[in-house]
Amino acid sequence: MNTIIEPFRIKVVEPIRMTTPEQRESILAAAGYNVFLVRAEDVLIDLLTDSGTGAMSSLQWAGVMRGDESYAGAKSWYELQDRVQEITGFAHILPTHQGRASERILFELLGGEGKVVPNNNHFDTTRANIEHTGAKAVDLVIDEGKDPKTRHPFKGNLDPAKLEALISEIGADKIPVVMVTVTNNSGGGQPVSLENLHAIRDICNKHELPLFLDACRFAENAWFIKQREPGQQDRSVREIVRQMFDLADGATISAKKDGLVNIGGLLLLRSPELVRQADELLILTEGFVTYGGLAGRDLEAMAQGFDEITDADYLQYRVRSTEYLGEKLLTAGVQIVEPPGGHAIYIDAKHFCPHIPPRHFPGQALVCGMYRHAGIRAVEIGSVMFGKEKAPPMELVRLAIPRRVYTQSHIDYVIEAISELFEQRDQLRGLEIVSEPPSLRHFTARFREL
Ligand SMILES: *Cc1c(COP(=O)(O)O)cnc(C)c1O
Repeated sequence: MNTIIEPFRIKVVEPIRMTTPEQRESILAAAGYNVFLVRAEDVLIDLLTDSGTGAMSSLQWAGVMRGDESYAGAKSWYELQDRVQEITGFAHILPTHQGRASERILFELLGGEGKVVPNNNHFDTTRANIEHTGAKAVDLVIDEGKDPKTRHPFKGNLDPAKLEALISEIGADKIPVVMVTVTNNSGGGQPVSLENLHAIRDICNKHELPLFLDACRFAENAWFIKQREPGQQDRSVREIVRQMFDLADGATISAKKDGLVNIGGLLLLRSPELVRQADELLILTEGFVTYGGLAGRDLEAMAQGFDEITDADYLQYRVRSTEYLGEKLLTAGVQIVEPPGGHAIYIDAKHFCPHIPPRHFPGQALVCGMYRHAGIRAVEIGSVMFGKEKAPPMELVRLAIPRRVYTQSHIDYVIEAISELFEQRDQLRGLEIVSEPPSLRHFTARFREL
């Protein structure tokens, strides 16, 4: 049997409201051709993000009812602490309301003027939190990770030679922490190998630098290691996950990804001194150390989510269904970032719309085309998001797959719609900006079609 089925049955359904192309045309115009300004109920298939958009299991919903809402020392907190300690081996676990809250606490303690933080690729909130303290965030992914067509099994790897070069250039004392993002979200959801984590750990040991993981998608990363790294096939996902965490001195986690919840985050630490300082900041801005910014029911759902995420049947389905979407688009002639990542497919919009120059936003044109044609919502990652001063190297459109939400027929619909759009791609029209805010313009800018 080759068919990999969704390893779950559906117990609760949420209706999707069908719309006609005419309705979508006027919705799009009213939203200024920006799908962030479209109401979610006017979207058929929502691939805007995989963050916080997953479906919880029956056991997670049962946990919601079990949630202990005591202010301090709730049973739900101990449940979460036990599960996360078991999976990661970290003794000190701080709950936060989402990943960026963990980042803000960490970099308030480690950042500051003159400091430099390396990473394979910083996620945008990580970069923003580092730069907010006056420090600099630098990306040191391997060169293969920047080429959309190279098929390297671990395109998320941090380049050890580039890290060594940075350390000798600026000195280890300027580097408060080395980060590695698993999987590498901003680099296309590409995995990092255990061998690479060991190499980075060795460099950190040599220069006495702490190594932290941005571990939002730790389970997807472990699955890629099990599939692709020599000698790892017979190990369990849990063993690989544990080895990844054992190599780190700390981790920031958004539980909205591999925590399988709609809200929540964690900060994992080893240094008792850092824990003391982080606890103070946690209480100042998130909440007491046994709930962070969360309700007891959220802690309970997270505890169960972290337990479920390492299930091999789930991970096989997850990674394979993303790959399936990518393969079918390639077969239709659509260029994507290769190989497919864990949580999303990235379409090369320059290839899709060669007649639209970057200044007229080929990615945004494709996003609008997908919505108009089929009610699919995706996100532009190109000149709208990053091109205010100069055009970025790639014009991409990301199709992020929410966890356990859509079935294969939903994905087949997406494939059919994008293939049809590709056939009529010369009809896609470029856009120009009518109004934009001073920063983060992709969220609220309004456009006009040319
Ligand atoms: C989502 C994400 C974050 C931030 O987490 P939030 O929960 O959205 O605040 C940080 N790093 C990576 C790699 C992410 O994907």
